[in-house]
Amino acid sequence: MEKAENISIKIPEELKQCIAFHGHLCPGLVYGYLVSQQAINILNLKRSKDEEVVAVCENDSCAVDALQVLLGATRGKGNLIINNYGKNAYTIFSRSTKRAYRFSRKQYYLYNGKHDQEFARLEAAVSSGTATKQQQKRQKLLKASDLLSKPFDKVFSTEEVEFSMPPYAPLARSEACSTCGEMTMSTKMVSAENGKLVCIPCSEKDQ
Ligand SMILES: [Zn+2]
Ligand SMILES: [Zn+2]
Repeated sequence: MEKAENISIKIPEELKQCIAFHGHLCPGLVYGYLVSQQAINILNLKRSKDEEVVAVCENDSCAVDALQVLLGATRGKGNLIINNYGKNAYTIFSRSTKRAYRFSRKQYYLYNGKHDQEFARLEAAVSSGTATKQQQKRQKLLKASDLLSKPFDKVFSTEEVEFSMPPYAPLARSEACSTCGEMTMSTKMVSAENGKLVCIPCSEKDQ
């Protein structure tokens, strides 16, 4: 096997923060990074302390983690909504300016870097399922570095969409499940046949 030539990638500070959280550099993370930076620029966002920014993500890939780090749109706060349609598309809402943009991946991915022959071989190995772990890693690294070198508009289309106020994360008091006794958010409980409120796992055990 040929020796893989080292590639040097200039990793921006914000992407470094994403890698520290996510664990590795990969194309998915770069997609999320690109979208976040673009949203920050055009919507003039600051990292969301509460729910000022809302992100609706149409996949559940590595990209999600970059949105959490850079936009402060997190699962825990409820301002990260995942509608997993398997699309590389993201809508970012700003509550303060009442504006929203949707970013959606354009066309098929085309490698434009200088390692195009190596990339084509790696792609073939990955898609035929014969790539080694190392080859998979190398392919991801080449793709991530290529994505970082492309202008945003070559990768994503940007469209301002009508702002509709995304709902705030629901808050509800807890009740004790009448079967297991564990405190459970009341809106997540279901009525058992005897009319008592039970938690979801208990309701499923009964059947
Ligand atoms: Zn990843
Ligand atoms: Zn229970």
